[in-house]
Amino acid sequence: SDSYFPVPNNPSDCDWKEHFPAFFKDNASEVESGKPANDEAKSEVRSSESGAVVPSFPAEKSVPKVRFADIGCGFGGLLVKLSVLYPDKLMVGMELRDKVSEYVKERILALRLKYSGQYENISCLRTNAMKYLPNYFEKGQLEKMFFLFPDPHFKEKNHRRRIISQALLAEYAYIMAIGGIIYTITDVEELGEWMKSNLDAHPLFEPLSEAELAKDPVVDLLTSATEEGQKVARNSGETYRAIYRRIASAV
Ligand code: SAM
Repeated sequence: SDSYFPVPNNPSDCDWKEHFPAFFKDNASEVESGKPANDEAKSEVRSSESGAVVPSFPAEKSVPKVRFADIGCGFGGLLVKLSVLYPDKLMVGMELRDKVSEYVKERILALRLKYSGQYENISCLRTNAMKYLPNYFEKGQLEKMFFLFPDPHFKEKNHRRRIISQALLAEYAYIMAIGGIIYTITDVEELGEWMKSNLDAHPLFEPLSEAELAKDPVVDLLTSATEEGQKVARNSGETYRAIYRRIASAV
């Protein structure tokens, strides 16, 4: 995975138009009028059990931005399902393996051809998400981040390679919107505990309540839509979830 792939210098250098041509037709105003109303933003208004009111996300204006990122997206199953659930949200899968990212791009192009007007809001790019996320996303940009069945890196000396850590959570908190949700799941119990304890230890994340998890349509997709989740389900394996909200820092 040391071979070359282009990395933008900063978020304004990202060519999202290439990824989502239907959302960037000729100019920003066309995008605005051509897009469906953002009804889903309202459903994001939630109050946590602690009584804290979580702000809704504003409807997209002018040039839309990527709001969901599936980190280590593998073969893209989650993106395909999320695409129809949130048709007005732009979302990107980030995948380190060249062939896998190419497969996902082709899968999406084939879906766009088969179902005209659909699947225009999902895309995939090859990158090392542990190194370059701030090159793609600006402060507060992402409303959802997914870390689904990440590589476990079992050996203690390799724990620093895990994609959830205090240092990386600080980076994820920076690019996430207040009220945004980070979804993690694994079938490796020890990694599940690791992700949960790292999220618990971080001051900018709080767990969703059971009631909130039950209401969130995305939660079931973590296993049913991902290729890894389907594999675990076929083998009747256990999964361990940690789903947290990005909160404002206490001043
Ligand atoms: N999330 C998918 C699913 O649940 O089906 C794939 C899970 S797979 C076990 C983990 C994926 O993360 C692999 O496809 C791997 O190439 C990718 N990956 C590992 N490290 C990465 C990194 N630093 N940046 C981007 N992708 C990475």
